[in-house]
Amino acid sequence: MDTFELYGIDALLTDEERAIRDTVRSFGAARLRPHVAGWFESATVPARELALEMGALGLLGMHLEGYGCAGTNAVSYGLACLELEAVDSGLRSLVSVQGSLAMFAIHAYGSEEQKRQWRPAMAAGEAIGCFGLTEADFGSNPAGMRTTARRDGADWVLNGTKLWITNGSVADVAIVWARTDERIRGFVVPTDTRGFSSNEIGQKLSLRASVTAELVLQDVRLPADAVLPGVAGLAGPLGCLDEARFGIIFGSLGAARDSLDTAVDYARVRQVFGRPLGSFQLTQKKLADMAVELGNGMLLALHLGRIKDSGRVSTEQVSLGKLNNVRKSLDIARECRTILGANGISLDYSPIRHASNLESVLTYEGTTEVHTLVIGRALTGESAFA
Ligand SMILES: Cc1cc2nc3c(=O)[nH]c(=O)nc-3n(C[C@H](O)[C@H](O)[C@H](O)COP(=O)(O)OP(=O)(O)OC[C@H]3O[C@@H](n4cnc5c(N)ncnc54)[C@H](O)[C@@H]3O)c2cc1C
Repeated sequence: MDTFELYGIDALLTDEERAIRDTVRSFGAARLRPHVAGWFESATVPARELALEMGALGLLGMHLEGYGCAGTNAVSYGLACLELEAVDSGLRSLVSVQGSLAMFAIHAYGSEEQKRQWRPAMAAGEAIGCFGLTEADFGSNPAGMRTTARRDGADWVLNGTKLWITNGSVADVAIVWARTDERIRGFVVPTDTRGFSSNEIGQKLSLRASVTAELVLQDVRLPADAVLPGVAGLAGPLGCLDEARFGIIFGSLGAARDSLDTAVDYARVRQVFGRPLGSFQLTQKKLADMAVELGNGMLLALHLGRIKDSGRVSTEQVSLGKLNNVRKSLDIARECRTILGANGISLDYSPIRHASNLESVLTYEGTTEVHTLVIGRALTGESAFA
């Protein structure tokens, strides 16, 4: 019996939600899982091919309405993230950034023209998007960003550098957040615009099956209508981040579930001191404790998903879910690694890869510390950010 069976999770899902979950799980098993250790080891991922396949499956922007998107509920989107991240956090990141950051920005704040130009192609995976908010000196505090957009006649001219941008060097379009004379604004930047370049970041020890890049904008001249008209200020990027964080609440549990499944299978067959490792009480305690945390995390994810589907989820609730589920998933992946002994450090088994990936997931989309401060502020009414 696995953890979700133990918790009776299936009974909490609709037929449609189970069908979407099963479809993504089958795609992961057939198309992604056989290659993922190799992609991780070589730090190369066929992002363009995968985007087309994921687009054909309807995964890109699946929770958005119209313009080629399916408009599923939030729980279905979460379950898809979970199944993708059960293979690798990097593959879930590809889908999160495309759907919840780049496409969502255009969906929520874009003009009709921007939606028509980009959303169907992005839904199909024919155009890949990235989301440029972080800079070298401004990650947790994006309000300090130095990238500027200044008016020149009717045009905008962008200058600056963004760092740690997922999909950055494979993207066809970048959503770039920049400081104007008045407020921070979002821009839709085709990556073939003169003055735009990207450099892939190497030597990563985490999220190796994902493209991460620096974006350089040097006098990038854009027409007046490149700005996202529907939002000004940090509320824009933060609104997108809430969407992506929601996917991570579910997604991270996929990495934990796959780690635990791997450890349970291993403990059943590995013989130590003449008996299966899984027959020892210490091992059973590890497995039982992890199953409880994984199951509790899933109940939390589903609870937040249902609230989101009713249209009432708050930023603080999303922070709480991201904080708990990523932290617990990382603990689970690390503990599963111990059960595998020396084999646990090999790419032949997933837990160490998941643990290494979850170090990035712990940091991006708001670090553990930032989400702790969000919850602290909600509880006390006092901001301890600065
Ligand atoms: C693999 C990967 C992919 C990414 N993809 C993207 C992307 O697509 N787009 C994008 O815009 N960004 C992306 N990021 C960047 C990510 O969002 C930032 O790394 C993150 O916001 C943290 O910023 P920082 O790295 O500058 O750390 P810092 O902000 O310098 O923080 C360093 C440490 O200080 C802590 N800290 C910060 N403020 C406080 C405080 N007030 N009190 C106590 N502790 C504090 C932090 O929690 C952290 O532990 C990605 C990062 C990674 C690793």
